[in-house]
Amino acid sequence: MRSYEKSKAAFAEAVDLMPGGVNSPVRAFKSVNMDPIFMESGQGAIIKDIDGNEYIDYVLSWGPLILGHSEPNVVKAIQEQAAKATSFGAPSLSENKLAKLVMDRVPGIEMIRFVSSGTEATMSALRLARGYTGRDKILKFEGSYHGHGDSLLIKAGSGVATLGLPDSPGVPADIAKNTLTVAYNDLASAELVFEKYGKDLAAVIVEPVAGNMGVVPPKPEFLKGLRELTEKHGTVLIFDEVMTGFRVDYNCAQGYYGVTPDLTTLGKVIGGGLPVGAFAGKREIMEKIAPAGPIYQAGTLSGNPLAMTAGYETLSRLTKESYEYFKKLGDQLEAGFREAAGKYNIPHTVNRAGSMIGFFFTNEDVVDFESAKTSDLELFAEYFKLMAEEGIFLPPSQFEGLFISTAHTEEHIAKTVAAFHKVFEKLAR
Ligand code: PMP
Repeated sequence: MRSYEKSKAAFAEAVDLMPGGVNSPVRAFKSVNMDPIFMESGQGAIIKDIDGNEYIDYVLSWGPLILGHSEPNVVKAIQEQAAKATSFGAPSLSENKLAKLVMDRVPGIEMIRFVSSGTEATMSALRLARGYTGRDKILKFEGSYHGHGDSLLIKAGSGVATLGLPDSPGVPADIAKNTLTVAYNDLASAELVFEKYGKDLAAVIVEPVAGNMGVVPPKPEFLKGLRELTEKHGTVLIFDEVMTGFRVDYNCAQGYYGVTPDLTTLGKVIGGGLPVGAFAGKREIMEKIAPAGPIYQAGTLSGNPLAMTAGYETLSRLTKESYEYFKKLGDQLEAGFREAAGKYNIPHTVNRAGSMIGFFFTNEDVVDFESAKTSDLELFAEYFKLMAEEGIFLPPSQFEGLFISTAHTEEHIAKTVAAFHKVFEKLAR
């Protein structure tokens, strides 16, 4: 058995210092009924905890570390920038560089504004859509997570789904009433909402691949249908690509699925592990943002040179071949999971979009939050613990996906598959 003594002691100290002992809820490992593991270092695909245990990492800081931990070029670029300056609060060239690189790759982006988190990106995109249309209502999808802005913490996924708090106290009813929700992939219900509220809807915000109820890809007609509905009603279509951006495809999910939104929100990968977000899109809409236009948004550390540099280095090292590599490793991991689960009669469903992978312990098709919730959460908790024991670090929640980096190898995947076999054999007993 691995020892987690130092992690246990660190957590005992942390619970008195921070609410729940953490600075972001899922890190508390509540839904897997164990104390959190405190991490110390990472190199490529491997992380080490403070007790000296090593793991193959499939969390990758929840997505950003697409090149793995401490990729040497990224580290060097950050060090060089840090030696020059960490922040100015005045424009610097690193912002232009990253802006141009993002624009070259993403079909729907003609202008961009950088912020410091995904939450800021989606909050700002919503304000922009509301200011631009002069309308208040928005439509989102159950089990999707778009950060913790008031308008978006309604029937949300990710940590709030993990903890069973999809509608948070503290969100004023006057704000919540403007957020309408339907099931993910349910275009017919979205059409009904538009029939009734079309002229009041400022925005539809959607994860083009849902990644906060586990992984749920869009049905073929879903994104295209939303594009048609929003166009018809003068509603702003926002793709929240905080997770999918440069993760699902070289040209983001919008490039992959061939549907171009009006606005896009980004985060995670574009910061290469440093705090970054962005909202971006059509010039005509983006120019309504201050100081070009009247809709206000600002940030002390927005466009931070360290973060821009880490993002630029990360994105410029991703090639089309990187995504073929992710697909190859993803195929290997998926096949291994299916084989092991099948062999030991573990109920399972696998959903994938490139290097975003969702393993569910249910035999039902998972197409939305309701079907995701049919997964056996107790089985998941045991699986998580036993996999950690085998040196495999997974997201500590059924409602999160796994990620792969360019630093993962076929050997890492083979080790993980061997762990699936050992763990499922134990779980089958
Ligand atoms: N949107 C999506 C799709 C996300 O997955 C997340 C975070 N997991 C966010 C927004 C919020 O980003 P952040 O945690 O950086 O605020």
